[in-house]
Amino acid sequence: MKSRFDVIVVGAGPAGSTAAYTLAKKGFDVLVVERGRSPGSKTLYGGRVYAKPLKEIYPEFEKKAPIERWVKKERMTFMAEGGSLTLEYSSKTSTSFTAYLSKLSEWMASQAEEAGAVIVTDVRVDSFLKEDGRITGVRAGQDEVRAGVVIDAEGVNRLLLERLGWVPKLEKSQVALGLKETYRLGSEKIEERLGLGKKEGMAWFMIGSATGNIPGGAFLYTYQNTVALGIVVFLHKAVEHAQQHIFEYLEELRLSPPFSNLLKDGVLVEYGAHLTPELGLKLKPPRLYGDGFLIVGDAAGLLLNLGYTVRGVDFAAYSGYLAAQAIEKAGGDYSARSLSIYEDMLEESFIMRELRRHVRVSKLMENERFFTTYPELAFALAHRLFEFEETSPTFLEAFRETTKGRVSKLRLLLDMLEVARGP
Ligand SMILES: Cc1cc2nc3c(=O)[nH]c(=O)nc-3n(C[C@H](O)[C@H](O)[C@H](O)COP(=O)(O)OP(=O)(O)OC[C@H]3O[C@@H](n4cnc5c(N)ncnc54)[C@H](O)[C@@H]3O)c2cc1C
Repeated sequence: MKSRFDVIVVGAGPAGSTAAYTLAKKGFDVLVVERGRSPGSKTLYGGRVYAKPLKEIYPEFEKKAPIERWVKKERMTFMAEGGSLTLEYSSKTSTSFTAYLSKLSEWMASQAEEAGAVIVTDVRVDSFLKEDGRITGVRAGQDEVRAGVVIDAEGVNRLLLERLGWVPKLEKSQVALGLKETYRLGSEKIEERLGLGKKEGMAWFMIGSATGNIPGGAFLYTYQNTVALGIVVFLHKAVEHAQQHIFEYLEELRLSPPFSNLLKDGVLVEYGAHLTPELGLKLKPPRLYGDGFLIVGDAAGLLLNLGYTVRGVDFAAYSGYLAAQAIEKAGGDYSARSLSIYEDMLEESFIMRELRRHVRVSKLMENERFFTTYPELAFALAHRLFEFEETSPTFLEAFRETTKGRVSKLRLLLDMLEVARGP
């Protein structure tokens, strides 16, 4: 293999492969180094991905990408000990789809390869080469490969960045634990049991007793032939509140009526656990560029974790796309000053707008009432309204009776105002 490239990308996730694809299409000589046996092989999980940024980057994305189902139904369930209350949204249109991230990453890498990038798998980069304060390449075992620019797309663990002294170690309070099980059911059963049309998908979130009232939530996604059920809990809260092993909460959820009926005859085909940072922007390194160096995707902290749902694939891919454009604009001058244009582009993009809008969400998520009192309250209110012996209460009466002793009116008002102000 050559020992010098225009650009070296570390990691073939959505961020790295999209950067490589965009650069190779522009005629750059690109090497991607991936430690997994194949691109995406290290990413077990999947979920829902927002399509617009990907459609902008990849021509004919909708036709060619491994899309499982377009999300046409959303459900939010407030779960309490005595029962649950579910809100359902159903639409003829959709802006997001479900996908296996492993397949999507593999597809993106294949696009990069077709465009001319060289992808080497099963090779772990051990460190970045640094000469006179400038990143000049990567070291993997005994091998050293050099490039004008190195893109760090190593994902959320970012051991290379830690080793470089660019970021500190993650703290326990910054991490959430996700558990997920995937069951094969067949497309007909999925569609019949959830009332979906062909290729139509559902994203279903649950808060409250689904996680034993530990801040976090549970989720269900439908793929073509399979359904994934999982929970996400904030690790430091789980340490404080968990009454049993976290796995047992997922088991209880799976055995509870809506899910046990839905998953009847399903065959477990995948099981995984993963740590993920709670909220990206707190983890964003002070600078995403250096001399001969750019950071993209999760490694750059471009991740939104709302507890019951995580969003990062579209951010990762689009940041890779912007990094490639910045490299082209730099016109061969790969100094930090010249590459800083990447961060300007990122600031102007939907990614930073969205992440900044959600900074307050982390504060909201510190409020445990949203995971304990309010799901319970939502169910109790519905219970009073729908289950009565002789005379039905008015909404106001039911509301008064339900809130009594659970939460003060002022507290409730302040919390609702907090939510209404938005992220
Ligand atoms: C439980 C969970 C659920 C999620 N659900 C969703 C979802 O539903 N929707 C969504 O949009 N996002 C979701 N995300 C987030 C999403 O997975 C990430 O934002 C996205 O994968 C980031 O892409 P990336 O390319 O930056 O990193 P990654 O996808 O993590 O890719 C990094 C790649 O770098 C490789 N690598 C790492 N270190 C080295 C090394 N030293 N040498 C060589 N290769 C290396 C890895 O093997 C990996 O292939 C979820 C995340 C988790 C943890």
